[in-house]
Amino acid sequence: MELRDFNFKKKYGQNFLNDITIPRKIVDCANIKENSLVIEIGPGAGIMTKLLSENPNVKQVLAYEIDESLEPILDEKLMGATNVDIIYDDFMNRNVAEDLNNYDYSNLYVVANLPYYITTPIILKLIEENLNMEKVVIMIQKEVADRFSAQPKNKEYGSITVFLNYYFDIRKEFSVSRNLFTPKPNVDSMVISLNKKKENYDVKNKELFFDLVRDSFKFKRKTLKNNLKNYDLNNISKTLEKYNLDLSVRAEALPIEVFIDISNNL
Ligand code: SAM
Repeated sequence: MELRDFNFKKKYGQNFLNDITIPRKIVDCANIKENSLVIEIGPGAGIMTKLLSENPNVKQVLAYEIDESLEPILDEKLMGATNVDIIYDDFMNRNVAEDLNNYDYSNLYVVANLPYYITTPIILKLIEENLNMEKVVIMIQKEVADRFSAQPKNKEYGSITVFLNYYFDIRKEFSVSRNLFTPKPNVDSMVISLNKKKENYDVKNKELFFDLVRDSFKFKRKTLKNNLKNYDLNNISKTLEKYNLDLSVRAEALPIEVFIDISNNL
């Protein structure tokens, strides 16, 4: 089946790259080490899957595609590629750690042009599955990339920014024009990389830390005093004093280190 006969499905976020230079740049960004397994979520017509399979450091590509009607297109595109397995299923329903048990490899990467309607759920799933990923290189909507990589005191900065920052150093790699997709989407895109932190933050109680961050941002325009009524405010106030701050501060002004300090002292 030819791609031009394919019936693109908006509900699955099907905007395929039509320019090989972008997948090349994405794969270059991943800087894949030898003997690696690469997970791709949403191979589409396989433009990036093929490049990944040809990379000498990629031992195996494991791709998840929800749309089975892409099978004939992917079969043709990947003919002869012996190191690609495609699971036709909803990535969100998979036990990825279990899927990975079938393979032997040294390093794990995720490289994907994500379906934008589930960008955050996919990233949260990758984190929750505790997969020990070397690096994640993904294309996402530009506005979402701004949110993920925002600095404190910026209106894009939110609990997801802090959450991702806990695990990764986040880098904006390059932007991608909407004109390079078929069909052309209504948004521009950005490739970002999530690089595993070299050193972990010293957080005494991870659950408490994440609850604190989530609650601090509950109503973005409210102060910590209002958002954290159920916490020991005296205690929080004491920690804030160290940074010349008080409870009238808003969560969006606080770097991750301050949230950690507050939670470690609760
Ligand atoms: N990688 C291709 C490219 O760059 O041209 C296609 C990217 S397209 C933005 C997203 C792909 O994800 C589509 O092929 C879509 O069918 C697939 N997809 C959408 N939701 C999915 C899900 N829950 N699980 C697995 N694949 C999904």
